[in-house]
Amino acid sequence: MSLIDTRTPNPKHFIKGATGDWEIVIGMEVHAQVTSDSKLFSGSSTAFGAPPNSNVSFVDAAMPGMLPVINDECVRQAVRTGLGLKAQINKRSIFDRKNYFYPDQPPGYQISQYKDPIVGEGVVMLDVDGEQVEIGIERLHLETDAGKLIHDQHPSMSFVDLNRAGVALMEIVSKPDLRSSEEAKVYLAKLRTILRYLGTCDGNMEQGSMRADINVSVRAPGGEFGTRCEIKNVNSIRFAGQAIEFEARRQIDILEDGGAVEQETRLYDPKTGETRSMRSKEDAQDYRYFPEPDLLPLEFDQAFIDALAAELPELPDDKQARFIADYGVTPYDAMVLTLERETADYYEACVTFGGKTRDGKAVANLVNGDIAAYANSQGLSVWESSIQPSQVAGIVDLVAAEVISSKLAKDLLQIIIAEEPEGDPAEIVERRGMKQVTDLGAIEKVVDEIIAANPDQVAKVQAKPTMIGWFVGQVMKSSGGKANPKAVNDLLKSKLGLE
Ligand code: ADP
Ligand code: MG
Repeated sequence: MSLIDTRTPNPKHFIKGATGDWEIVIGMEVHAQVTSDSKLFSGSSTAFGAPPNSNVSFVDAAMPGMLPVINDECVRQAVRTGLGLKAQINKRSIFDRKNYFYPDQPPGYQISQYKDPIVGEGVVMLDVDGEQVEIGIERLHLETDAGKLIHDQHPSMSFVDLNRAGVALMEIVSKPDLRSSEEAKVYLAKLRTILRYLGTCDGNMEQGSMRADINVSVRAPGGEFGTRCEIKNVNSIRFAGQAIEFEARRQIDILEDGGAVEQETRLYDPKTGETRSMRSKEDAQDYRYFPEPDLLPLEFDQAFIDALAAELPELPDDKQARFIADYGVTPYDAMVLTLERETADYYEACVTFGGKTRDGKAVANLVNGDIAAYANSQGLSVWESSIQPSQVAGIVDLVAAEVISSKLAKDLLQIIIAEEPEGDPAEIVERRGMKQVTDLGAIEKVVDEIIAANPDQVAKVQAKPTMIGWFVGQVMKSSGGKANPKAVNDLLKSKLGLE
């Protein structure tokens, strides 16, 4: 790959060293398991958690004479992913054998794509603390996964489970465009979001369906690219951040001591927070790639690509732009609301419940605020929480109609959460007498009482009008939060002679 630097060095990414500033350069190879009922070249099931070796066909076990048959669904998923990454779809691509022996891989080779991958260059947009960052995609290719070796079941024996052998993976290779551990984490999260929107990979890193090989190097800001180390098989976004931080510091220390970074493959150990060497470049294997003789080149026409493009779902960037334009939410709220497709659907269901369109900002405040806080406390996303879109809509409508204040809206939400999960907001407000008091006579009575009881405060507020907040607070308190705040303010001002 020819390495081109697309980024302008930004001091906020620089790391202080003993001899000056350093800049981290990161490129990722993400392995994403293709969502498909069967494997890439056989009809075996891909179900997670099946008993060992129960999903293994003769092809997966590499019995002599067995021939691979391409799974069309996996090809469609790879093309759809390419389209989601705004990438070039190659109408002709080739499968190659990557030869190496390991007991988890019966054929002695992995079927992969080398020189002619199914998908070429694309791009992923990141929102990193409000900054828009474009990360280049180098390529996406299809390949088979290996089986799993099990060493901890018996003191002197190892076992192999071939359930995963032959499962389709997409390897998504980024350009070396990432410049900090933060950007790397946002990249992984964004990639996972896109894959989940597309339904082409479930993105469950804990189950291994998405894993990252992270290439890290350091250099003087804006200088020549340094020698990289590749941290293999990182299976959580948090670990990715930690591994990069550790690795960059390790390389900086070596360089500042006058040494040279050796290109090697390393492993991250979450227990120690360190990376350690797995194999050096000298041990790198010659994979003797050659075109897979048992498979024809993959070929498709423009109509095939167009048909898949036409059926693509709305992707997070487009959804975000639409939420900003149609519902008036801030870019930040739109970004948070579109992190998960289900959350975006939930939000839209709240905004449009009952066939009318509500104030999108008010809904976003509630969904991203108190509802998200509650859902988080339960370890859930908002759409998985017990609060229904109809209830969110009901609360927002009550505030909009000035039946309750936004302060009481918070209380109402807590009542729904803790006591009345099925409750209808308007009915609860009615029954519990939570309606905002706009009856001026009733408010006036309370205002008069408080003014009469606090002559000292009256003197203070007349000298310093901003003190009015104290009176507002007292009135609200004695009305149980039900007085209309604007009416309270107006009355107080005229009674205290502040106008
Ligand atoms: P290989 O397949 O041998 O690992 P590639 O050239 O295909 O090598 O690059 C793999 C990944 O390493 C890509 O994501 C690329 O962006 C990244 N990369 C390449 N050079 C560097 C570098 N100097 N620093 C950081 N990442 C790099
Ligand atoms: Mg690599």
